[in-house]
Amino acid sequence: MSARDDILEANARYAATFAHPELPREPRRRLAVVTCMDARIDPLAALGLELGDAHVLRNAGAIVTDDVLRSLALSHAVLGTREALVVGHTGCGLHGASNEELCAAVGVSAVDFLPFADLDESVREGVRRIRESPLLPDAFGASGYVYDVSTGRLRVVTI
Ligand SMILES: [Zn+2]
Repeated sequence: MSARDDILEANARYAATFAHPELPREPRRRLAVVTCMDARIDPLAALGLELGDAHVLRNAGAIVTDDVLRSLALSHAVLGTREALVVGHTGCGLHGASNEELCAAVGVSAVDFLPFADLDESVREGVRRIRESPLLPDAFGASGYVYDVSTGRLRVVTI
């Protein structure tokens, strides 16, 4: 059985007891979370959130890219979120990597995969990009954290 078959079976079980048919589109906690795609992070569980509580924006490295800012602008202006948490993590594949090795792994040249040398600084830079974005008002909050994938603990970087 393929992974896809397993997933369809699992979804049938999930849907059979689905208990949230009427969730509003607006996140209940008025919160957005920017974090990495790393499979070891369960953002809702780690932050005490439930389905419908927050927008979760994920990419490789928890980088606040232009596309993350695009999503945050809509998250705020259309769907009412008031702040974003940027959550980097220990053991990130982009931490300490170089574009040369990442390009070699992917088999391309001259692509910026946005690796970073300093984890805390990468989180702080993400928070800065949110604070300085013309797509978001000054009142929109931003704070930064590092999640430890071996303990489940969240450490404050900047609030
Ligand atoms: Zn990562």
